[in-house]
Amino acid sequence: MKLSTSFVKTLRNAPKDETAKSAQYLVRAGYVHKELAGVYTFLPLGLRTLKKIENIIREEMNALGSAEIQMTALQNPAPWQATERWNSERMDIWFKTELSAGGELGLGPTHEEPGTAMMHDYIKSYKDLPASFYQFQTKFRNELRAKSGIMRTREFLMKDLYSFNLDKTEHDKFYAKVEKSYHTIFKRLGLGDCTYQTFASGGAFSKYSHEFQTILPVGEDTIYYNHDKSVVLNEEVLNEEVLADLGVKREELESCQAAEVGNIFSLGYKFSEPLNLTYTDKDGKEQLVYMGSYGIGVSRVMGVIAEKFADDKGLVWPEQIAPYRHYIVAIGEKATELAKEWEAAFPEDILLDDRDLRPGEKFADSELTGIPYRIVISDKTLEKDSVEYTERQSGQQKLLTIKEMTDILHSYEKDR
Ligand code: ATP
Ligand code: MG
Repeated sequence: MKLSTSFVKTLRNAPKDETAKSAQYLVRAGYVHKELAGVYTFLPLGLRTLKKIENIIREEMNALGSAEIQMTALQNPAPWQATERWNSERMDIWFKTELSAGGELGLGPTHEEPGTAMMHDYIKSYKDLPASFYQFQTKFRNELRAKSGIMRTREFLMKDLYSFNLDKTEHDKFYAKVEKSYHTIFKRLGLGDCTYQTFASGGAFSKYSHEFQTILPVGEDTIYYNHDKSVVLNEEVLNEEVLADLGVKREELESCQAAEVGNIFSLGYKFSEPLNLTYTDKDGKEQLVYMGSYGIGVSRVMGVIAEKFADDKGLVWPEQIAPYRHYIVAIGEKATELAKEWEAAFPEDILLDDRDLRPGEKFADSELTGIPYRIVISDKTLEKDSVEYTERQSGQQKLLTIKEMTDILHSYEKDR
């Protein structure tokens, strides 16, 4: 992309109403635009990163053998009334609205109810199981406090997966596969070293659920961990019984702040029972479907990664989710010609700063936007048949020959 064709402008100063570092940088670097508290537009760079995160998750969901669908944001109250979650006192984050033809609608905060109700039409016999589906969808939640930029918003992108099994045994196997898949996802997103699967409160059907928590000083949750015993748990389950269960003592645990990036939950019959989702087993008997749900906060993950890796100059994206891999600054006529050539040949990899600005301003913006590598071409480097190549994260700089540089650009092309 050529920056001159983008309408987005970087800002020198941080917006006063954003306190989180990630939020300040995401706004300043032009990744997002704040519409109102907890409501953000994703701008060209921001959308590219969001989509890259989405794609990594999508690949792993497909590898589980699950199929992608897209449910509706508008919610029919009926299934929610059946589970008693339409009641705004029991579910305090609803956005509800009225139909002009009469009657109420809700904006989906999650999709267990419509998902279960929908499967009523597709699951009849044991032969229809196991089944699962997932989606990427905007969820709406009337959160009391929007916080930390895109980490807690009133409208956000979630990946939600729902599983439908014959019984607990079959469910548990799928659940274990999702656990593994989540570890792979967070590793691929660059959060492998700092994301832990924690024990969290369960429900009627399992003693625990699991959350995926990324260590983050500004995270809203407190988690407790013991490295030697590989035990990590959430504050809400920190009690005598649970500690005995997990074989740790209170004094062996350290605590730190973390952000919940995902969770997995054995739902059991919690939704299939009130919504009457059953199948006929081999003996012709009617049985309830055993369910699970598995979420990842896609837009929150983007905020967490931004927050985690940013330094005092701006954002620092892991390569695999950066909007572009290379940020080019060209100084001089011949250099500009070459830069334009490369941008045209590798439009998916290159962000060309062709704005009418001083090089110093472009360098600062290349750091603010967090693109992994900066290429500077000038008449001076061209004299040496080379370009200056700087890694954003380490600041390490070297000269690459034109041939070495084009080889790198071509190598990415092959990965695609
Ligand atoms: P939290 O405890 O943070 O409110 P939750 O328990 O309500 O999260 P779920 O309902 O299971 O979370 O949603 C699945 C995932 O969606 C969460 O793990 C989190 O990553 C993300 N998420 C939840 N609420 C928000 C929000 N308001 N803004 C952005 N992401 C969110
Ligand atoms: Mg919540």
